[in-house]
Order: sequence, then C-alpha cells, then structure tokens
Amino acid sequence: MAAVMTGIGIGGGSAAGPVARMAPPPALPAPRAVGAADAPAEAAAVREALRQVAADLERRAAAASDAAAEVLSAQALMATDPALADRAEALVLDGTDGAHALAAAFGEFRAGLEAAGGYFAERVADLDDLRDRSVARLLGLPMPGLPAPGHPYVLVADDLAPADTALLDPAQVLALVTRRGGPTSHTAILAKILGLPAVVGCTGAGTLADGQSVLVDGAAGTVEADPLPQTVAEAAAREDRRRRRAAQVRGPGRTADGHPVKLLVNLGALHELPTAAAADSEGVGLFRTEFLYLDRAQAPSLEEQTAAYREVFTAFAGRRVVVRTLDAGADKPLPFATAADEQNPALGVRGLRTATRDPELLRTQLAAIAEAAEGSTAEVWVMAPMVSVPGEAADFSALVRAHGLRVAGAMVEVPAAALRAGSLAQSCDFLSVGTNDLAQYAFAADRTLGSLAALLDPWQPALLDLVRMAAAAGEAHGRPVGVCGEAAADPALAPVLVGLGVTSLSAAPSCLGEVRAALAARTLDDCRALATRALAAPDAATARAEVLRS
Ligand code: PEP
Ligand code: MG
Repeated sequence: MAAVMTGIGIGGGSAAGPVARMAPPPALPAPRAVGAADAPAEAAAVREALRQVAADLERRAAAASDAAAEVLSAQALMATDPALADRAEALVLDGTDGAHALAAAFGEFRAGLEAAGGYFAERVADLDDLRDRSVARLLGLPMPGLPAPGHPYVLVADDLAPADTALLDPAQVLALVTRRGGPTSHTAILAKILGLPAVVGCTGAGTLADGQSVLVDGAAGTVEADPLPQTVAEAAAREDRRRRRAAQVRGPGRTADGHPVKLLVNLGALHELPTAAAADSEGVGLFRTEFLYLDRAQAPSLEEQTAAYREVFTAFAGRRVVVRTLDAGADKPLPFATAADEQNPALGVRGLRTATRDPELLRTQLAAIAEAAEGSTAEVWVMAPMVSVPGEAADFSALVRAHGLRVAGAMVEVPAAALRAGSLAQSCDFLSVGTNDLAQYAFAADRTLGSLAALLDPWQPALLDLVRMAAAAGEAHGRPVGVCGEAAADPALAPVLVGLGVTSLSAAPSCLGEVRAALAARTLDDCRALATRALAAPDAATARAEVLRS
C-alpha cells in the first residue's frame, strides 16, 4: 500500500512527479596527510573538480533565464579564477589533502571579499556555494544546492532559504516538500508566489528517495509515496476543476451582492514583478522591500532604491502600490541593521524599531520612495512594519508626510496594536493586518517552527478576534483595513475576513483567482454570518469545519 505522510499543506492544488532531493553541503572528512608522491595527482584532482564545477555552472547558465543566467555565469567565472586553483594546489603540494586545501583556499578568498566590503562582500554566499560544490565534486558526494535532473521534479529538501530559491525554475519544479518550516515560512511564501502545491513541516520527507514517484496535495497537507496511477489521475482531475473554478470570475473583487473588496498582490522581489503586474489585481497590497537589503554588507544607495521603486511604480501605473518600509530583524536579519547580541531577535529591535536605532535608514528609504513616486501615476501608499504603540504610528505618519508622500499606514502585527487600533487609526490613513506576525505574537509561537503550526493557524478564533478589533477600529475612523499576511490567501477564510470588516486582501498572485471566486459566491451578510460562526468556535479546526459546512 502507498505510504502517506502528512505535514502542513500550502496552496490549494496538487501535483505528482518524481522526487529530486536537495543535498546538504558536504561534511569535510577528517584531515589526511598527503605524501610528496601522491601530491601531484591530488592537486590535479582539485583542479579538475574546479573545472567541472565551472563547466556545470556554465551549462546551467546556458539553459537558464536572464537573471539566473547572470548569477550562474558570474559564479562559474569565480570557479575558474587561476589564483584560487593555484592556492589550493600550493596547499596540496605542502601536504594538505584536496578537500581541506579547497576549503582553506576558498576561506582565504572569502576573507578577502569580506574585507573589500560593498558589492564584493555580498558575493561571499556565492563563494561558499562554490566551495561546497567543489568539495562535493572532489569527494564524489551528491551536489549540494538545487538539483538539475533534466526533467520536471518534486523538490524535496530539509528547508529552503531565499538564496536557494532565487534560481528555482518554476517550469521544472512541480511541487515542494520540506522536512522543516511552518505555514508562514519562506518555503510556504515561495510556493504561493510560484503557484506550486507544497507540504512543509513534513517530518517523513527524509525517507523519500531520488526518482521515487510522489503525489503532493497542498490542500490536504499530504505526500503520498508511490501512488497508484488511478489516484494520480483523480487528483489531476480535481486540480483541473480547481483551476477552472479560479478562472471563472475576473475583475475587481466583490461579494455576490456587489460589496467591493480590493484584491491586491504581495510582491517580494523584482523578479516577481512581471507575474505580479500581469495578475488580475487592483495593485500591490504588500511590497516587501527587504529584498533590496538582504545579503548585503551595507544599505543600498538612494539611487539604487529609487530605481527599484520606480520599476515597480511603472509596472503598476494607475494602480495602488503599498510599500512596506524595511522590516529588518528576526526572520530577516541584516548585518548592518540588526544587533547580533539579542537573545530573542523576534522580540528585539526589528521592523520600525530599526528606524529608531538608525533613523537615516528610514529617511533614505522614504526619500527614495518619494522620488520614485514623483511623476508616477501609481497610487503610492507607505506603511510601517511592527508598530506597537500609537506614538510610533504617529511619528511614522508625520515622517512619511514630511517626505511629500500622502498616504501613511501602520501594520497591525503586534497584539497591542490590534487592541489599540483606534488610536493608530487616528494618525494613519489605513491599517494592514500582518497575520503571520500577529499569530506569532498572539500565541507566543515562533512562526518559523513547523511544530507550532497548529497555534499559528490563521483560523484560530483568538487571531480572528484581533482582526475584528482592527477592522472595527478602522471602520469607526473611516480608515480601510486590509489583510496582507498568508491568511488572505485562503479562499475559505476570505469571506470570514470580509465578514469581520476587512476591506482588502493581499496575497500571492497565484492565490487571487480562488479568493475572488470565493467572495463572488457569498453576500456580505453571508460573510458576516460566517465570521460570527468562526468567532464562536472553540478552536481553529472547528472554525474551519463550521465555515466549510455553511
Ligand atoms: C505578516 O507578518 O503577516 C506580514 C505580512 O509580514 P511578513 O510576513 O513579511 O513578516
Ligand atoms: Mg510581518
């Protein structure tokens, strides 16, 4: 009988295909002394490993899309640097074994790049990846990083980091399965951006083998190994029906009786821009600007930021773009903005608090947004992450306006902000509920931990209570209140959120079709009745079941 493993399902769809595993970085074996007689052969093997790694990267660059090809070619160039091979060879001729010689040579180059700072320091991650690949090639171990089996595959990994996934080719990846990760982890967010079914926090993922056939069901949160052909065919038919349902309704979001609910997209990187702009949406509800700052030794310049924001505003000409200012810290650490000595980074200087420590960081960002907005027809709104008290919202709004930007808002991600949403709304033009962090802080549950997924479930009635408070405060003050956390991507939850008083939903482009269809099937009164049911439920599972039954 086929084995079925469970985890946290992401995305409503399913897909079947052969497994390709992402291998971990190779562990260095115990050091081995190389005698003078063996040294030339060992040195030649080291050079050959570097040559093969470069050739492999060049091959992949030739087959990749523009942005990915550039990254891969640049990496291949690094691998062919003669100084690197010379240094590794010298170490081998001195008696160091090949693997340790490679690691040491790469280590020296790494230190050099770090010392050079700026752009060079940002390349250390690429160098680390090259080191791992070269050592793996030399030792005959599986190649770390994304697999390239040459055919579509189900990617199975321990976990995925943003750097792993920048090169992921959506045409080749059918589904994602990770052993770790929670409902709002990077893998979960990425899966939604790519419109892929995923199961994260799947503890059995380690038992899956390369080439093994699996059926991944994002709606059920299951991974079935060696499924029967009939099971695969039934899942494909269900998937087809789901896609057709999502494509049925087009245009601005509204309930069956015409109550408007703005449907917006979340945007997390410039390479997502073409898909985001092409989606049937009224704009961007959450533009996560961290991508500009990540993997860097220092903040991007005013000019660089302006150019990036302008690109987004141009792509969304005539539509709304809600720019979220830098949300550094905790799950998004930045070397130049995040203190390394905090014991609880999620409770530390993160989000808007970073601006208190380094006001110039925020001022430069606001100046860049204002400059890019100048002359653009995009309706530019700006909001702050991790606002905790009304004073922070008021200071932020004043600063935004001082930069000539007209619309300022605050994210509601901390329970205190939801409890005092009325006071926040007095100084803000809008509020946006970040349910990912709001759940984390309401339930004191680390959002990156798959084992706490039940607490982080957006159907938790206590979380819905906080959303209701924020929405009611917005309504009382005539301010729109959106939801831009992962909760907004759940088509079953969307009518509930609208029933709680939420005025817009922002999610990955691939999720909007089903959300739009779900809203079109309910009147506003239906939505309110569903919200009442969900709030009255004793737990998340009952809330979901009650609403699905209604
Ligand atoms: C959230 O916390 O819900 C949110 C939208 O912000 P992020 O996921 O980027 O922290
Ligand atoms: Mg957040």
